[in-house]
Amino acid sequence: MSKYKCFNCGATVDSSEVGDIVRCPYCGGRVLIKKKPEGGHHVKAR
Ligand SMILES: [Zn+2]
Repeated sequence: MSKYKCFNCGATVDSSEVGDIVRCPYCGGRVLIKKKPEGGHHVKAR
């Protein structure tokens, strides 16, 4: 599950909210930056 951040309005858009065409549902902007899933290398082992 990936998320995008709209470059235009800054909204976080889930990949399930967009269809074949990646577009911001809020402002209609087509420039979305793909965000990495939470977690990554910032993991606490305890
Ligand atoms: Zn937007």
